[in-house]
Amino acid sequence: RAKSEGRDTYRFFNEEMNYEATEQLSISVGLRKALEHHQFQLFYQPQLDIETGRVVGAEALIRWIHPETGMISPASFIPVAEESGLIVPIGEWVLQEACREVSQWRDAGMLDPVVAVNLSALQFARGNIEQAVNDAVMAAGISPSMLELELTESIMIHDTESVLATVRRLKQQGYQFTIDDFGTGYSSLQYLKSFAVDKLKIDQSFVRDIINNEDDAAIVRAIVQMAKGLGLKTIAEGVETAEAMAELKRYHCDEVQGYYLGRPMPAAQFIKYLREHQ
Ligand code: C2E
Ligand code: MG
Ligand code: MG
Ligand code: MG
Repeated sequence: RAKSEGRDTYRFFNEEMNYEATEQLSISVGLRKALEHHQFQLFYQPQLDIETGRVVGAEALIRWIHPETGMISPASFIPVAEESGLIVPIGEWVLQEACREVSQWRDAGMLDPVVAVNLSALQFARGNIEQAVNDAVMAAGISPSMLELELTESIMIHDTESVLATVRRLKQQGYQFTIDDFGTGYSSLQYLKSFAVDKLKIDQSFVRDIINNEDDAAIVRAIVQMAKGLGLKTIAEGVETAEAMAELKRYHCDEVQGYYLGRPMPAAQFIKYLREHQ
């Protein structure tokens, strides 16, 4: 293919691709080591009931504490973990860790604590997600209702029927489901009918500017209205100001999460947060 375009073109593409491949490979080697050497840590970001201000749960967000680089955000390694398949064992670790943690929150004064965990499509396609979830809950001795599973609409791209069947089975066992980043996916409304979830998490891109952008405000209002009609709860992510919070309250959004309420924090700090917010 490159031959007809001359030698330089060939070399250019070759080196570009090589660079990317090398980069990916070195991250995935690093991720494998990170699992072995316990370099992952879960941070927890509070979720509050908007009416009462009560802390109702927290989302578990993974961090990679790299011995040289320091803290690496999931945005830069989750995609590689997904491509290399490492998201399956990493995701199992996340479930185990989050379930162990949520069992402690009651002692800090939280009623019916819930931890929300993000799942990747590959955990459905290649991992045995049902077993991973049940193992984690059993090991921690918690009830399934204390675990909320966050899915993005992209999870439906492959093998929609089998994903739906798994979600239905897990729901029958008492697990809760939320559609994450709601509004940014595709065919949202089509899937909402068959996808029996409990909650919609309104994507932060609509929430960030809710005060100044009338279109964003209109979208958020519409999502909340629709959710109510379908009997679903709503949570807004990316709530950064008191003004945004007040606006969401006017729309009767159920729950809020964002820097204004609390940043993602290590487990010990979240326990303190709980004690201070009772
Ligand atoms: P997400 O699930 O949509 O999580 C929300 C992201 O928004 C988090 O970024 C959180 O720190 C950030 N955030 C929260 N409040 C605010 C706010 O008020 N303003 C702004 N600007 N940002 C806010 P984070 O922790 O970097 O995570 C990024 C993404 O990585 C997550 O998006 C999720 O898709 C993925 N992720 C994180 N942990 C896991 C995991 O354990 N497994 C999987 N599969 N994915 C994960
Ligand atoms: Mg999430
Ligand atoms: Mg989200
Ligand atoms: Mg997101």
